[in-house]
Amino acid sequence: MAPPKQSNTIDFDTAKMQRLALGELRSRKRQVSLADVRRQLALHLQTSLEADRVLDIFFRESQQLLPLDYLSYQHSGADLRLEFGDAASHAASYRLTHAGEYLGELCFRRRLPFSETELGQLESLIASLLYPLRNALLYRAAIQTALRDSLTGTGNRIAMDQALGREVELARRNLMPLSILMLDLDHFKRINDQYGHSHGDEALRTVTMAIKGSLRNVDMVFRFGGEEFLALLSNTSSAGAIQVGERLRHAVEDLQFTVDGQPVPLSISLGCASLAAGEGVDDLLRRADAALYAAKRDGRNRLACAG
Ligand code: GH3
Ligand code: MG
Ligand code: MG
Repeated sequence: MAPPKQSNTIDFDTAKMQRLALGELRSRKRQVSLADVRRQLALHLQTSLEADRVLDIFFRESQQLLPLDYLSYQHSGADLRLEFGDAASHAASYRLTHAGEYLGELCFRRRLPFSETELGQLESLIASLLYPLRNALLYRAAIQTALRDSLTGTGNRIAMDQALGREVELARRNLMPLSILMLDLDHFKRINDQYGHSHGDEALRTVTMAIKGSLRNVDMVFRFGGEEFLALLSNTSSAGAIQVGERLRHAVEDLQFTVDGQPVPLSISLGCASLAAGEGVDDLLRRADAALYAAKRDGRNRLACAG
């Protein structure tokens, strides 16, 4: 078959898109208008799905039209709080919604008061932000779902691998200590066998809450197996990790878990390992796993430390 005489394929990449937009702006010497900035925003806001990047673009490009010193954004449901620039005395705040859906709160600040015209312009710019912001929130929720264990709400295996890689790298670069605790429920199979799987699930949730309640906010917990968890303790030495591990062990031991009014004792065994010089993630995990095995072998409901 003869090749088509005409092709509709256009090689159009994002770099070209940006060059076009920039060229357009540079070629115009006159004052930038509201329409210009809206057009530019429409083009640039769609280049990212990350909320912080979207708001950063919005903040920087809005300043071509209006002097702004500061922008904050918060959405407590999405556990998101972002700030750009330096705070100043005069504020204009907006609660954002789209078709009844709450999209967070924006607060602009600057040294000079806002005129009515400027507020009108600002609101017109915010209209360009709504869809990109909504998409960024949806993307964030999807990422969070993909990284969370649905039964316990802790991080899942994927999240654990990502966090371990990141934290080990940071600890090595900054010469900071890092420890992990590998946790496993004791004789958990018996609970399932005796009381059924749904009570087993409830026990898992109860233990997870006790673990989370006994850790600092900066510590991270992941469920990486059926009844196996990992606590990642950044900036924590071996001595500190032993203290934390014992606190977790007591917290689980002290739980008053019942099934049909009958007390069901729960306990965990823990293996502790601290990052050694030059060590990678795999070796760190292997040492914690060996320590956990030793804790099980020595009678359970105890903590063992990797040598
Ligand atoms: P050990 O003290 O040696 O750890 O004994 P164990 O019974 O806890 O260990 P084992 O690995 O033999 O059994 C783990 C059990 O955890 C098997 C499985 O029934 C249960 N399990 C794993 N995932 C889940 C889950 O999501 N829900 C429930 N209810 N049980 C689970
Ligand atoms: Mg197990
Ligand atoms: Mg177990």
